[in-house]
Amino acid sequence: MHDLKPLEPGAMFWAERDTLDEIRALGVRCGQMGIPGGMRLTPATAQAWKSDLEIVTVFAAYEGEDYADIPTVQRTVGFIPAATRETRERRTYEVSDFAAALGVHSIACHIGFVPEDTADPDYIAVRALVRRVCDYAAKHGQSFALETGQEAAPVLRRFIDDAGRPNLRINFDPANMILYGSGDPIEALRLLGPLVASVHCKDGDWPPPGVPGALGRERPLGEGSVGMARYVRTLAEIGFRGPLNVERETEDQQERLRDMARGIALLRSLLSKEAVSQC
Ligand code: MG
Repeated sequence: MHDLKPLEPGAMFWAERDTLDEIRALGVRCGQMGIPGGMRLTPATAQAWKSDLEIVTVFAAYEGEDYADIPTVQRTVGFIPAATRETRERRTYEVSDFAAALGVHSIACHIGFVPEDTADPDYIAVRALVRRVCDYAAKHGQSFALETGQEAAPVLRRFIDDAGRPNLRINFDPANMILYGSGDPIEALRLLGPLVASVHCKDGDWPPPGVPGALGRERPLGEGSVGMARYVRTLAEIGFRGPLNVERETEDQQERLRDMARGIALLRSLLSKEAVSQC
């Protein structure tokens, strides 16, 4: 595999949506692979994604998840909804096996809104589930990374400390902190820094005022409220050295690929202007 540079731009891409050619056309050598909930995971599928593109994380998404607004996310995303918990736990093991077949050492997902109350039955059940996933992933030599944003950083930090598994880490997404109104992403990054295994580079604006439950709007990289220069600078300052995976979630595929290419160019320009060491 490649000898990736520290903070090398990469892409967050999705199997069954993006092709290897499309990802290569972005000019990246690495990225994170999202697995849609309904995708069949077979040895042949794994084989099809073995290439010169270095996959650093495999993301699990789950059937029935819906990111329309905050109440819908609370009801449908991750391990918090009790009705789908068992099915999604099994699916996470399949994704861990699939990642192992690809030689990938990290899996990740959104686990849903972690309750602030540590006595909440959902908190207790999800903590136990997360421990089991960590132990399963550890057998493959993998970390299990939780995506940020749906709760404030101190709540996530406390949950991870409480779960007490050394391979439980964070996939830091600065835009999610803003989209969900969960707090300043740079402050959050400084708090969570030692736990960050991987990152997304995504941008967005805060939720509209006076609309309860509304999410903010995702934006092309550099056009939202994250402040990409300070984000990249802070990543370098906290000693993060992994790839900068550009994520864009807009529906239109051509617009999405164009924005990702522009995002990657923006990162390259920031890395040189900010004189962030890539040595
Ligand atoms: Mg993300």
